[in-house]
Amino acid sequence: MKNLLILGAGTAGTMMANHLDNKLPKKDWQITIVDQYKTHYYQPGFLFLPFDTYTEDQVKKEGKKFIPNGVNYIQKKIDRIFPESNQVKLEDETLDYDILIVATGSKIAPDETDGLRGPLWRKDIFDFYTYEGALALRNKLRDWEGGKLVVHITEMPIKCPVAPLEFAFLADSYFKKKGMRDKVEITYVTPLDGAFTKPTCTKALNYLLEEKQIKIETDFAIMEVDNKKKAIVDYIDKEIPFDLLVTVPTNMGDEAIERSGLGDDLNFIPTHKHTLQCKAHDNIFVIGDATNVPASKAGSVAHFQAETLTDNIILYTKGFKLKQEFDGHANCFIETGENKALLIDFNYEQEPVHGTFPFAKIGPLKLLKESIFNHWGKLAFRWIYWNMLLRGISIPFVGRNMSFKGKIFDIKTDNK
Ligand SMILES: Cc1cc2nc3c(=O)[nH]c(=O)nc-3n(C[C@H](O)[C@H](O)[C@H](O)COP(=O)(O)OP(=O)(O)OC[C@H]3O[C@@H](n4cnc5c(N)ncnc54)[C@H](O)[C@@H]3O)c2cc1C
Repeated sequence: MKNLLILGAGTAGTMMANHLDNKLPKKDWQITIVDQYKTHYYQPGFLFLPFDTYTEDQVKKEGKKFIPNGVNYIQKKIDRIFPESNQVKLEDETLDYDILIVATGSKIAPDETDGLRGPLWRKDIFDFYTYEGALALRNKLRDWEGGKLVVHITEMPIKCPVAPLEFAFLADSYFKKKGMRDKVEITYVTPLDGAFTKPTCTKALNYLLEEKQIKIETDFAIMEVDNKKKAIVDYIDKEIPFDLLVTVPTNMGDEAIERSGLGDDLNFIPTHKHTLQCKAHDNIFVIGDATNVPASKAGSVAHFQAETLTDNIILYTKGFKLKQEFDGHANCFIETGENKALLIDFNYEQEPVHGTFPFAKIGPLKLLKESIFNHWGKLAFRWIYWNMLLRGISIPFVGRNMSFKGKIFDIKTDNK
């Protein structure tokens, strides 16, 4: 019997367990999956928790429920991978593997920025990228009387790169609804040269910031958070004062990756961007946020990757050449507030464009245009996540590779 070991039972690991349980012959392969936590969190829901749109129960479920019966589930902390001997050390046992899939994701590292976890942490400084952070922020917002709200990204890459911008848009509509928008000054601070990570989006969508009276500060490379002055300070001594700071700290891969000598500076694993094979070891594959591939770190991306990776694992077990197939496909809804959202669809080469999705002319979803329908799509994503994505069920009419049907290539950026 051979062993296929999956590290991490988050979005990507759980999907791989479901795909491979159906595809790998059971008489030859034992599949094992390891995760430190009992609870599986629906992370996209962390965006809605602070605004009381979702409740705690809507964003968490017991992880084991999504792991097929035939897969061995171990709830323990992963300590280190030994690629030379094909072994993984957990807190109190060592597992052998023939094939390893690393799906340990990425997490926030607030200690990377001086002063971020100072006296104001979780008093006037919050994140919403963790369950605990999103809940603490919800409690703060319920009683906050207004002032300077700074929404900030520390450095790229971060998971769901549009989430901080969505937070700023949702904050605008939350305070409007509470009748206190005039008491809140919202500033969006980014290390990038525009609001969006993609230049076409910045060009097509900058009007949203003006419309919602959200100030933007670009090219801000944070040096420290000054807790006394209540300001974020960059390397050229520019200071942005805040009453409430909502920040996305540096995102990093898990320490176990660093201990194993498998990661880059941010503990992301150098991975072949079209096959998802680890660059350093042929029998290790990497999926989701744990990779260093230049795709968005998003659940939708992990979903598309999982389809290619499943085929490649089967090809690998048979000794065949891997498919160079994954194209960086990402499909993301962007909440813009007031029950509207945008949809963007792109890949490694093609930036987001206008058009309809998934069907040419018919849609029903519109690309790069705000609509209530897109907002419903974003809310429906939670149901799709729990009932289809995690279980490895394909979303009808949405292929793993980006389709060009229905797309209109009308936006020109300066660098094109
Ligand atoms: C606020 C927010 C909003 C988002 N919105 C969207 C969205 O709208 N659309 C979208 O597609 N994506 C969104 N995402 C991104 C999406 O949630 C992630 O990209 C996705 O979860 C990545 O899956 P993953 O399996 O790679 O990592 P994860 O789902 O994070 O799973 C990693 C797993 O590995 C485990 N693990 C790590 N290290 C160890 C260890 N040492 N020992 C044991 N277990 C370990 C962790 O416990 C975890 O369960 C959002 C994320 C956030 C934070």
